[in-house]
Amino acid sequence: MSCSVKQRIPREAAMSEAGSVPGSFHVMAKPAGPACNLRCEYCFYLEKDALFPEVEEYRMSDEVLEAYIRQNYESQDPSIPEYLFAWQGGEPTLLGIDFFRRAVELERKYCPAGKKFSNTLQTNGILLDDEWCEFLARNDFLVGLSLDGPREIHDRYRVDRGGNPTFDRVMKALRTLQKHGTEFNILACVNRESSERPLDVYRFFRENGARFIQFIPIVERLPGKGAEDLGLELALPPSLGGEDPGVELTLPPSLDAEKAASTVTPWSVEPAAYGAFLNAIFDEWVRKDVGEMFVMTFEWSLTAYMGMPAAACFFATRCGTGVILEHNGDVYSCDHFMYPAYRLGNILEDDLGAMVRSEKQIEFGALKETALPRYCTECEVLAACRGACPKHRFVMSPYGEPGLNYLCEGYKDYFTHIKPYLHAMAKLYMEDRPISEIMDQTIIVIPKAGSEEHWTGKA
Ligand code: SF4
Ligand code: SF4
Repeated sequence: MSCSVKQRIPREAAMSEAGSVPGSFHVMAKPAGPACNLRCEYCFYLEKDALFPEVEEYRMSDEVLEAYIRQNYESQDPSIPEYLFAWQGGEPTLLGIDFFRRAVELERKYCPAGKKFSNTLQTNGILLDDEWCEFLARNDFLVGLSLDGPREIHDRYRVDRGGNPTFDRVMKALRTLQKHGTEFNILACVNRESSERPLDVYRFFRENGARFIQFIPIVERLPGKGAEDLGLELALPPSLGGEDPGVELTLPPSLDAEKAASTVTPWSVEPAAYGAFLNAIFDEWVRKDVGEMFVMTFEWSLTAYMGMPAAACFFATRCGTGVILEHNGDVYSCDHFMYPAYRLGNILEDDLGAMVRSEKQIEFGALKETALPRYCTECEVLAACRGACPKHRFVMSPYGEPGLNYLCEGYKDYFTHIKPYLHAMAKLYMEDRPISEIMDQTIIVIPKAGSEEHWTGKA
């Protein structure tokens, strides 16, 4: 597409649209488990150390690493031209460059003839120095750098173990990545505070030369008994119903919107604010920056509007094609469902492809669609939203059904707001014209904010 969807996204994307039995799938490896050199207040992963036996160091062994790399090649649909290795955490750079030198060596060793491989690495940037950035650039890694926005927004939650701010260190990493020409995306968490300052966040990234941005809404709930029994500090994901493998957990029921709001953590983004955040950035982007700045949510919305497979699991019809590989070889259904009930097996004992294509995982993935409440199935923007992430479905719908997404109000507002623009962009694309021409059209046709006029965008 001429809007140039970034193909290698460190998180969630790059997987095939989930279907009943995935041919190709995406593995996100956590070679350092939940170990991290920061203590971001909103992180949902740090607490996962309660799920593993106490060890001195979380570190993927060479045996697990090799099994993963070999099986990732063997288990994918053999027709794919390129194999992706995605590294996340925790903080993967804690393992040192040599771990990744070895990973690349094994990737090269096992790569089938005539095929390519590539790597993504999600990092908080604290350890990224010249040596790291040079290594990452030379080996064509796409780096996802966690940065939430300007100093006061970033430092609000992203602090180190001593509670110290990290903005300066992350900005230094950004500059070092740029200096070495390392390809990078920004991963920005949208929390309660940052959601109030959309343009400050967006313009900050633009002014600092970040062209690819992924926004992730932060939604976590205070723990219930099930979570506390596991030693966790945040709530378990909601039950999806049916043959949900999570039924063995103690699951909180859906609540009405007001009660649900009282159960989320103070840093969780509020639904209406999330919609307003995306809309404000979209309005600036669609008038000034199409073709220059790439906001993944917008790119994914356009592909969804054009009927292409969803590039991000949030907006895919089903889940299930993006599994987690932990440092010890355990494989889980998804990053957002990394709990004992969603463990699929261990890569040293079980076949990766068989785990991804197991009945348990297919059922997990299908529930995203089959458990949709009627409120969603009747929704005008269902084709784009798909009920979004099941982890956030803990609200009672206006029909009194369980399983509506907590962020529904925001998603509905956002998808409704952008639809006419997407329509016009899709038309440009079909006419083989640059999608960036939308910027001329918005100047001419889109009414100013507050205008009574309504632009339908009808082609
Ligand atoms: S906008 Fe709300 S009702 Fe519509 S599909 Fe998304 S979550 Fe469901
Ligand atoms: S549960 Fe959420 S994060 Fe996991 S695959 Fe589904 S949409 Fe993605």
